[in-house]
Amino acid sequence: MNKLDTALVTSALAEAGFSLTDSVKEADVVLINTCSVRNHAEQRVLSHLGHLKHIKKTRPDLIVAVIGCMAQRLGMELLEHEAVDIVCGPVQIPQITELVTKALKEKQKSLSVTENIRQATPEKQSDAIEKFESAYSIKDKQIPGQAFVRVMRGCNNFCSYCVVPYVRGPEVSRPPSAIIEQIRKLANTGVKQITLLGQRVNAYKYIAGDKTYCLADLLQMASDIDGIEWLKFVTNYPSEEFFDDILQVMTDSPKVCNYLHIPAQSGSDKILRAMNRHYTACKYLELLDKARAAVPEIAIAGDFIVGFPGEIEEDFQATVELVKKAKYRNCFIFRYSPRPGTAAEKKLQDNIPSDVKKRRNIELLAVQEQISDELSREFLGKEVKILVEGPSKKPHLNSVERGDRPQLVGRTATDYIVVFNGHTSLAGQFIEVKITKTSPLTLFGELIQL
Ligand code: SAH
Ligand code: SF4
Repeated sequence: MNKLDTALVTSALAEAGFSLTDSVKEADVVLINTCSVRNHAEQRVLSHLGHLKHIKKTRPDLIVAVIGCMAQRLGMELLEHEAVDIVCGPVQIPQITELVTKALKEKQKSLSVTENIRQATPEKQSDAIEKFESAYSIKDKQIPGQAFVRVMRGCNNFCSYCVVPYVRGPEVSRPPSAIIEQIRKLANTGVKQITLLGQRVNAYKYIAGDKTYCLADLLQMASDIDGIEWLKFVTNYPSEEFFDDILQVMTDSPKVCNYLHIPAQSGSDKILRAMNRHYTACKYLELLDKARAAVPEIAIAGDFIVGFPGEIEEDFQATVELVKKAKYRNCFIFRYSPRPGTAAEKKLQDNIPSDVKKRRNIELLAVQEQISDELSREFLGKEVKILVEGPSKKPHLNSVERGDRPQLVGRTATDYIVVFNGHTSLAGQFIEVKITKTSPLTLFGELIQL
């Protein structure tokens, strides 16, 4: 979601005549797009701001804008920071060019956030976001050939630990016509893979006359667009609603990737209840069984929070058991971080010591690593189709293995990361790679076909 917002904002600024630089030294304006999901992310922003405050001592004309969830959450408090000139919430990003231009001219601080974030967005404002979204949704330049398309905004789920409903506002599904038009435009610019985004993307629902559109309808309509070859969607909330339809379109359309990111968060029913997640571990595993029965080659991924208030060893072991049974291709594990204003932060004490959270995190990762390793090994000797992303950021191979070609990275339809040697011009292309080596999270291979 944040990558998409960054892409929208940078394209809007570029259209207004600004040019992008990664170097603070060269910049007249610094924008920080922020996340409030965990405290750690916010602390990193504050430390950047500390650094910028220092720089501003010698360059008082530098304009600093903080945009996104942290801007909405802290509002005035952030604006009072010495380094900050502009605070702009997620709903206000269509105003970014105006805010930046004004700040450069007038050198005055400005605050642009929603006063009551849980109130429905006024029509004028949601029209502005719609326009902004369709005008600036261009290719994600960092990953050629790929783009994100938001299908829903906000969230109404109120999982007790989560700040998202308080910073992104009420859940709204975008009109299917706008989404499909946007995908068509992206396809015309050469985009091959679209990832549909929503906090509960599988709950997408739009009523137009007597027709109710669900995610499966969007996937079907997007599949019919020439040029689009792979469709992915994140993130799924474990629920029966529309689940069969989604599995059906995954089976029917070769373009819909067999990949399902469906966070469980915990394997303990007691903790799931405290998290306000509306399912049990058993129901969750039934959904995975159903998915695997319908789409045998499906790759499933999940998220977990360890150290939620009241999580005793028995609860944690239930999570370990669930991870073993779920056989994820990969999962993301987070240590509980109390978020101001959420039900968990208000009502429950953050009573799991940080060393216990850390140990549980490491233990769960180790369990998952073994499963990921076994699943990765099944690829040895096989040929896989990947969409090349570009040069690998981490050097995975030594110089002998690498030869004289750069190391590139790509992903399979089921989201496995594949590292191989090839020419950088392959970025954005589909290619076939033969897997010669595996590790838990990465497959290594040789290019076999252009
Ligand atoms: N809408 C998605 C994910 C939103 S946030 C969903 O419902 O799954 C991404 C992930 O961050 C969550 O899946 C959760 O595992 C983690 N997360 C959210 N709030 C957190 C918190 N307060 N502390 C630690 N992890 C958190
Ligand atoms: Fe947060 Fe739950 Fe909404 Fe996901 S579904 S964004 S975890 S409240």
